[in-house]
Amino acid sequence: MNVAVVGTGYVGLVAGACLAETGNRVVCVDIDREKVEALRRGEIPIYEPGLEELVKRNVEAGRLSFTTDLASAVKPARVAFIAVGTPPDEDGSADLQHVLAVARDIGRAMEKETVVVTKSTVPVGTAQRVREAVEAETAVPVHVCSNPEFLKEGAAVDDFMKPDRVVVGVDHPAAEEALRELYAPFLRTGNALMVMDIPSAEITKYAANAMLATRISFMNAIAGLCERTGADVDKVRQGIGSDARIGSAFLFPGAGYGGSCFPKDVKALIRTSRELGAPSAILEAVEAVNEAQKQLLLSRVVRRFGGDLSGRTFAVWGLAFKPNTDDMREAPSRVTIEGLLERGAKVVAHDPEAIHEARRVFGDRIAYSKREYDSLDGADALIIHTEWLPYRRPDFAEMKSRMAQPILFDGRNLYAPAMMAGHGFEYYSIGRPVVG
Ligand code: NAD
Repeated sequence: MNVAVVGTGYVGLVAGACLAETGNRVVCVDIDREKVEALRRGEIPIYEPGLEELVKRNVEAGRLSFTTDLASAVKPARVAFIAVGTPPDEDGSADLQHVLAVARDIGRAMEKETVVVTKSTVPVGTAQRVREAVEAETAVPVHVCSNPEFLKEGAAVDDFMKPDRVVVGVDHPAAEEALRELYAPFLRTGNALMVMDIPSAEITKYAANAMLATRISFMNAIAGLCERTGADVDKVRQGIGSDARIGSAFLFPGAGYGGSCFPKDVKALIRTSRELGAPSAILEAVEAVNEAQKQLLLSRVVRRFGGDLSGRTFAVWGLAFKPNTDDMREAPSRVTIEGLLERGAKVVAHDPEAIHEARRVFGDRIAYSKREYDSLDGADALIIHTEWLPYRRPDFAEMKSRMAQPILFDGRNLYAPAMMAGHGFEYYSIGRPVVG
């Protein structure tokens, strides 16, 4: 099948490459000329396991190509995906200008009946606006449908190749047929293609992210309670997670959720709920708890060292909002580091993949180290923000020997407090007793 994918970011590039892998001819479109040129040279602009080989293989096979010329991609396509960004507007609502601009461009380019798929995360009612935008530019029949994406950064290729389910919101058989055909190779193990009406599909995506964010904020609230009572949130987590009705995923407390999806999608859902006269106290609380949680590590550092941090050096391990990605959008590490810098501290950071992103964010306001241990030389404390695998079993003796004092603020509960006491660390984690 000829497929156009407009927007070549985390979602569009992964979707395009995976759809090419199953034999389709896919043209990926982006307005960012530099990105397209880099992709044509075989350079992948993001870090995502398995993606580079996948793109290379499909480009070489002639099934995957990149262009800035939307019309040339859309004209032959039976299906055109819209996968551009939907960043939060000032009031928290999703900014649809890119989605609607692409819809108009598709309308102008279409020469035959086309299925236009909104893959970007968009508020309920957007497919209708996309349809109007396309139809304003063409008399050729268009079938707009909603196909929200559930992939996780850090495991995006795997998630797209083996989805738990594919959600498709349609109101025309031609759209359903095309999407059934496209997704069949990814659903061979029997996972469901869920066909529903368009508004239900649009709400499903936001409800899924809001539910996951709710679990995180809920556990962060419970962690706060644990800290005030001497309880250990890890025990509580295991105690409730073993209940089949609750399940164990997404119950880890931490320094707050970040990334390009949860914060913006919770905000957008809050906004939509208010606009539709159904404000959600739960969603508002989820966001408020998270905002407070992102300040937690900084406030602990300030409580320990005082408000004036000049002359102090802090090592930070992990900058990305989660492991296996270089994405630092809305990362809690940014809140901590900005707070440290404002108070005069020196920061030396390590991250296995996000250093180039961090240079874009912080420039030379912080120092970077290639090896995690080098960041510790003379540090007053180490702050851990991302649970990258190499941080899980470090050499504590080497850490201690390099630091000015063995103090560790762990935003991801990587180590057992008793073990840290044994290694002679003063150790602060989330929802567990302080040791040392
Ligand atoms: P991204 O910012 O990585 O990529 C978006 C791309 O769209 C950019 O390359 C940008 O240059 C391009 N673009 C913008 N306007 C354009 C236009 N008019 N024409 C062509 N290209 C244009 O975004 P992303 O993370 O891939 O997210 C895309 C959408 O998918 C968002 O709505 C997001 O909420 C949703 N989503 C993201 C994830 C994720 O994990 N990142 C997961 C599920 C859903």
